[in-house]
Amino acid sequence: MLPYRILERKRAGMRLSPEEIADVVRGAADGSWSDPQLAAFLMAAAIRGMDGDETVELTRGMLESGERWDLARDLPLVTDKHSTGGIGDKVSIPLAPLVASCGLPMAMLTGRSLGHTSGTADKLETIPGLSLALDRRRCLELLEQCGVASGIATPAIAPADRKLYALRDATATVSSLPLITASILSKKLALGAAGVVYDVKVGNGAFLPEPADARELARMLVTTARDLGGKAAALVTDMSQPLGRWAGHSAEVMESLALLEGRGPEDLLEVTFALALEVARLVEFPLTREDLERAIASGRARERFDRWAALQGADPGWLAAPHLPLAPVERPLLAARPGRLAGVDTRQIGLLMVEAGGGRPRPEAVIDAGISLHLKARLGDEIQAGDELARLYLRRDDDRLAAAFSGCFEIADEGAAPPLIAARFA
Ligand code: URA
Repeated sequence: MLPYRILERKRAGMRLSPEEIADVVRGAADGSWSDPQLAAFLMAAAIRGMDGDETVELTRGMLESGERWDLARDLPLVTDKHSTGGIGDKVSIPLAPLVASCGLPMAMLTGRSLGHTSGTADKLETIPGLSLALDRRRCLELLEQCGVASGIATPAIAPADRKLYALRDATATVSSLPLITASILSKKLALGAAGVVYDVKVGNGAFLPEPADARELARMLVTTARDLGGKAAALVTDMSQPLGRWAGHSAEVMESLALLEGRGPEDLLEVTFALALEVARLVEFPLTREDLERAIASGRARERFDRWAALQGADPGWLAAPHLPLAPVERPLLAARPGRLAGVDTRQIGLLMVEAGGGRPRPEAVIDAGISLHLKARLGDEIQAGDELARLYLRRDDDRLAAAFSGCFEIADEGAAPPLIAARFA
């Protein structure tokens, strides 16, 4: 059907047929639809919405536009995890070796840092020698050798998503839930794990801050994946303050290792365990919280990290004594008054980290992995005037930036942390 006719129908709020949606996706993948036509489709879909069936068809088309690894065909228990991203969200780094050390393989294609959230790929690449170049054959090899494989999504996976995502970014249509669902799922289903757990963040540092939106995305990810034959579950988890005690690329790798050594902060541990148990349940693998605790206490989880990292090229000297330097200029951020920590402007922290050099404002920008924020106070904590709320590690001193970071912490008479796990969709 002519693009014009399809656009006219979506603009009028009509439901598109599977064939019409397949035409749109083909048009994005092979260039037969122009950018203005694709942009018009995205805007009409964002305003008029897409129902469950249309979302399934859009996901299917985007999935089929590229390479499919179908890992579960060779490895029936292989699992995967996706997060919508947030500040200090380093869960993928400890999760994969942790579950693998309990017998459950996990493969992940990770993303780059961009804007206020940071990507696992850039964090892992702070490890000297570690390479994230991966194809299907190498991915399966790694999974067989150590139960963990981590790589960067190749352009051959879901090329229609790549095209549409760039246009969504330019047309203010990124926040459309059906478009987000199809975008995330097309890449996850292309990897083809037996079960995927989605960590949908909610709160002021999340991509979707509103609880109703985060819950709806979680629901749509699970139902759309199922309609396409995938096993999926989702947790909605808190991002109204950074996860764990550290934000910053190098520091987050070190905090992940600390978790695997039994020294992880409680919130990070809880989210990691909850996702591990959820994904195990999906593939009917017997795994308990006690198994996870034993894997950490015995050193097996930490050893698995080393085995995996060595196989992906990490320098053995570094693995023997892991250390990643923080930026040298330390600025303590002190409480101006007593009370309770009542609010953390988490998104602003992410933006300030980028401004300090510790993130990527543009795709080609270089990241300073040592820029870090060490969070010492958590939401709801009782605070005395002069207490250290957080400590900033900068490359060079900057009073304005330190003051801006300080402004992200709100102290009031009352304050409490929201639940860490707000909802579950399974
Ligand atoms: N992540 C994706 O991969 N796609 C989206 O649309 C949003 C987040």
